[in-house]
Amino acid sequence: MIIGIVGLGLIGGSLGLDLCRLNHRVWGVSRSAQTCAEAVQMSAIHYGSTDFHAIPDLSHTDIIVLCTPIDRIIPCLRELAGLVSTKTIITDVASVKASIVPSAMQIYARFIGSHPMAGKESQGIRSAELGLFQGRTCVVCPGESQATDTVKQLWQSVGMTICECTPTDHDRAVAWISHLPVMISAALIHTCQNEPNLELRKLAQTLASSGFRDTSRVGGGNPHLGLCMAQCNREQLLHALTIYQTHLAQIKEWIELENWQALLSLLAQTALDRQLFL
Ligand code: NAP
Repeated sequence: MIIGIVGLGLIGGSLGLDLCRLNHRVWGVSRSAQTCAEAVQMSAIHYGSTDFHAIPDLSHTDIIVLCTPIDRIIPCLRELAGLVSTKTIITDVASVKASIVPSAMQIYARFIGSHPMAGKESQGIRSAELGLFQGRTCVVCPGESQATDTVKQLWQSVGMTICECTPTDHDRAVAWISHLPVMISAALIHTCQNEPNLELRKLAQTLASSGFRDTSRVGGGNPHLGLCMAQCNREQLLHALTIYQTHLAQIKEWIELENWQALLSLLAQTALDRQLFL
């Protein structure tokens, strides 16, 4: 197939590495010419440009995957919609779906929303990694049936398991397991870093090990991505934060009251629940 990737960062670059390895013909468009050159050098694309008009394969591309920051998905789709053949399928990878998919389907009938649940804290083309999607789940929000099947096959070909759901259900679910953890983790890092006693803060930094690495990982990621999550999934995130605050206040109260039995019961339950979640 001829596949286009728009936005050659962590996700776009990683997808390109897998698709080139699978012998597709892959072109890329990114904001910077330097990024396009690096993507070619890394074999994440066969050729690239900062301008759609410079892509000779554009009119006969089978699938285009929009991997730009969230707030650039709709503007890029608008630009592309007037340039591609109506046979081309367009999908995206954005971490929010309800604010994108319905409008995107209005702009372009063969648009199918997707969200590969894979990533890491670094960003940019140099962070791209072969096999990043292997063994992970990809959300696909079904649309036109043949386009949906093709998008599902694309993600399956890079090792992903498909989960179909509506854009709204997607946003509700990721508020719990992705967007809320980013905010909690950011608050944790901020809290530790604001310890006023410099000696104590330095000691804490020295002692920080695997536990702190795990709990701080998502709060130490791409700031622009975290902001877009909050802006584009604001209501669901606020709901999740409110419920979380209630649980945190309950834990604080048990500790104040030395209600160790209640705390132990909760921790025993969460030890079991974590296994269910993962
Ligand atoms: P990233 O590493 O920052 O990559 C985004 C790339 O898009 C940048 O490198 C930039 O390339 C390019 N870009 C920016 N504006 C552009 C434009 N107007 N036209 C074309 N290219 C443009 O970010 P990412 O982590 O890959 O995230 C990209 C998308 O994946 C987001 O929508 C995000 O929600 C989604 N996502 C992220 C993760 C994750 O864990 N990071 C997981 C799943 C989905 P230049 O270098 O050329 O400026």
